[in-house]
Amino acid sequence: MDIKTHRRPNLTNISDYEQYAGAETVDRVSAKAETLTGLHVAHVNSTYYGGGVAELLSSLTLLMNAAGIKVGWRVLQGSPDFFSITKKMHNALQGADINLSDLKVNIYEDIIFENVVRNHLDHDIVIIHDPQPLAMINHYKKQGPWIWRCHIDLSNPNPDVWKYLKGFIETYDATILSIPEYRKKLDVPQMFFMPAINPFNIKNKEMSEAEIDERLDYYHIPTDLPLVVQISRFDRWKDPEGVIEAFKIARKEVDTTLVLLGDVATDDPDGERVYQSLLDQREERIVILSKEDTSLVNALQRKAAVVLQKSIREGFGLTVTEAMWKGTPVIGGNAGGIRHQIADGVNGFLVSSIDEASQRMVELLKDGKLRKRIGEQGRETVKTDFLLIRLLEQYLDLFSAFECDYKLDMSRLVEQ
Ligand code: UDP
Repeated sequence: MDIKTHRRPNLTNISDYEQYAGAETVDRVSAKAETLTGLHVAHVNSTYYGGGVAELLSSLTLLMNAAGIKVGWRVLQGSPDFFSITKKMHNALQGADINLSDLKVNIYEDIIFENVVRNHLDHDIVIIHDPQPLAMINHYKKQGPWIWRCHIDLSNPNPDVWKYLKGFIETYDATILSIPEYRKKLDVPQMFFMPAINPFNIKNKEMSEAEIDERLDYYHIPTDLPLVVQISRFDRWKDPEGVIEAFKIARKEVDTTLVLLGDVATDDPDGERVYQSLLDQREERIVILSKEDTSLVNALQRKAAVVLQKSIREGFGLTVTEAMWKGTPVIGGNAGGIRHQIADGVNGFLVSSIDEASQRMVELLKDGKLRKRIGEQGRETVKTDFLLIRLLEQYLDLFSAFECDYKLDMSRLVEQ
């Protein structure tokens, strides 16, 4: 990297993964990266903070640069009405209704165009994340392949919004979805990359007991009883009300404290409303916090006896993987990507109702051995399948498989 600075903090390198992934994997991935040295790549998404996509990009873009690829990250600028429309599109892609009026389409396309004017994307490869910046492709003379990376559960999209967005999607050279169940009828190659976590960042690195306790004390979170924790954007699809209900049933049988921690992404106008609607439910043993504190996320995921991610729709739940990495047993909603993250009864539990969630909570809270077994299996699963080096390798393989006409040489890619 040709960066001039008098002090350069350490960036995570591929070689740092040797302790988890082994020397053979590190050598293989490093060799693949070397063949792509200097490749110029841009990622575009709609928020620098809040939610899994920003979390993923903040680590992935640094690791790619450390690996020698010139990777930039652009963030869309949008007005509140733009983000209100794109959140409606997001919800509609996950199956909600939408009134896709001309007014909405015009606002969406106008703001997209303003962003196009500001962003000169003449990179070797451009990767567009999710529906918000999707339509940008319409205005560029492509200098290389464009990839649409969709992080949303696409299994049952609203037909109107799908029809509209499909027109843009089919002008891309490849799409990446999180799991094969999201495959659509499309005239574009479809890859499946599950997201992954950075074990070295503030959210996931080791913490001492003293550091954990300091963070929890700071927010006056009581630790005299075992903690049940859900950490999520305040979003209806994450079912925070269902979590509270399940907790209320479970505590009739076992003493426990619930912590719901959330933050509000800059591209998600619903968050504040959902947060406010939950506040009536606060009580001594139901802590509801809206904070932007990554160390607190880490501390809670480590301190919790049980982590819940009771989503109803979930493209892929990074929070599930984060907690599993910390050896904490996770109860996940039996939805979307979570089904690929948790093998029910082996490294976590999948639940389809409030009753099931409360039963699993009680079972885990009463049985320390079960918590330990499930937690250890969870950590092992993340170590083998969900660390960022695996995702980096998938991207490197994809970049290498593009031919001069931007078509993919599928024989160079693992069967998708
Ligand atoms: N997150 C956070 N603070 C919070 C709530 C969530 O840092 O108060 C993070 C969480 O740790 C995870 C991301 O936001 O890294 C959420 O990603 P996920 O894939 O679980 O859900 P999404 O928000 O993308 O639907």
